[in-house]
Amino acid sequence: MLHERLSEIYDNVLRRNPGEIEFHQAVREVLESIGPVLGKHPEYAESKIIERICEPERQIIFRVPWEDDRGEVQINRGFRVEFNSALGPYKGGLRFHPSVYLGIVKFLGFEQIFKNSLTGLPIGGGKGGSDFDPKGRSRHEIMRFCQSFMTEIYRHIGEYTDVPAGDIGVGQREIGYLFGQYKRITNRYESGVITGKGLSYGGAQVRTEATGYGCAFFVDEMLKARGTSFEGKRVVVSGSGNVAVYTIEKVQQLGGTVIACSDSSGYVVDDKGIDLALLKQVKQVERRRMATYAERRGGNATFVPGASVWEVPCEVAMPSATQNEITGRDAETLVRNGCIAVGEGANMPTTPEGIRIFEEVGVAFGPGKAANAGGVATSALEMQQNASRDSWTFEFSESRLRQIMRDIHARCLQTADEYGMPGDYVAGANIDGFKRVADAMLALGLI
Ligand code: GLU
Repeated sequence: MLHERLSEIYDNVLRRNPGEIEFHQAVREVLESIGPVLGKHPEYAESKIIERICEPERQIIFRVPWEDDRGEVQINRGFRVEFNSALGPYKGGLRFHPSVYLGIVKFLGFEQIFKNSLTGLPIGGGKGGSDFDPKGRSRHEIMRFCQSFMTEIYRHIGEYTDVPAGDIGVGQREIGYLFGQYKRITNRYESGVITGKGLSYGGAQVRTEATGYGCAFFVDEMLKARGTSFEGKRVVVSGSGNVAVYTIEKVQQLGGTVIACSDSSGYVVDDKGIDLALLKQVKQVERRRMATYAERRGGNATFVPGASVWEVPCEVAMPSATQNEITGRDAETLVRNGCIAVGEGANMPTTPEGIRIFEEVGVAFGPGKAANAGGVATSALEMQQNASRDSWTFEFSESRLRQIMRDIHARCLQTADEYGMPGDYVAGANIDGFKRVADAMLALGLI
């Protein structure tokens, strides 16, 4: 339910951003949490902080022309939404996926404001991407696309302005091509202009692993807060991209057994636990489908085509694929099968109905803004290392990440308590993330 003033603001968001359903969903979730804050802080409403937060500071939409391997000209659409820079330069990844349109980029950019705020680090919120589909494209095509994308976007980004990184469809290879083109166009080795770089050209230890590791650390904290741990738990992770792979790696190290993961073709269930080396070989090196994993794994694993991975019984669910992948029905199935904790590695992977079901029955629910903030937090650590021309060890970087995730977890719980909603990580994350941005916006005047 929305507080009256918030309901008016939400109606306005609907009117001003027609058809952008993912953006509407992301805004609504935050507005539903912050009602109690307005009671305590009338200054936010007086200065129209919420209305201002819902309107991006700047939105850039551009043409990305490129030539495929057959010599045919292709045209895609590029986006960068610079949402909020009250806390620092706009920061957020680039997503290359055919589903990308302005509504997706705005939902991701909006989430990023609060997520970045929750890290406690000096980063604003933004997001970008393209409807380019990297699936089936050669390395040369990917490079030409990245170069064309950067040829437009370079003029909008910078170490102190806007710092992109990866997201779905954009990994270290793409970041390399993007950074190479930026360097060439500007004649500046401005390492801090993009994060997620390779270690040979200014990247940071643990950045690749950070989102997945961070999510596992966050769930570990949630389990500990309830007097339990990963030990002996069956864990289902959706997806098999960067976030999923490093979630699996850390969950295994923390004592959990990951029994299933997936891709868009279906899922694999592997009762003895996913063979991570094989998964990395199939998905990251060979870029093949889940069926190949099952074939090579032999008797232990079964591939189930075209079904939802959430039908696999587990105690812990870690959605790490994409938005709205846990529906209300999936949530019911998970609860019925004994799921006690959910940690969102992806952005907004649970539908509002799914969240309601988890919360009603008291499942520990870690929303993406908190649970997957380790990726962007480690990007901020990469920016720190770039600014000081330094590079930290893996051990030190991982200990920083672990501490950041512990702090986020503690702050979510503390804020939820303070506002009379004990154990509600959604409210805790939204309120805490919102307040830091709102206070900075008040202090900076009418920006
Ligand atoms: N795309 C990631 C996210 O959703 C990382 C962004 C970044 O490192 O800037 O938070």
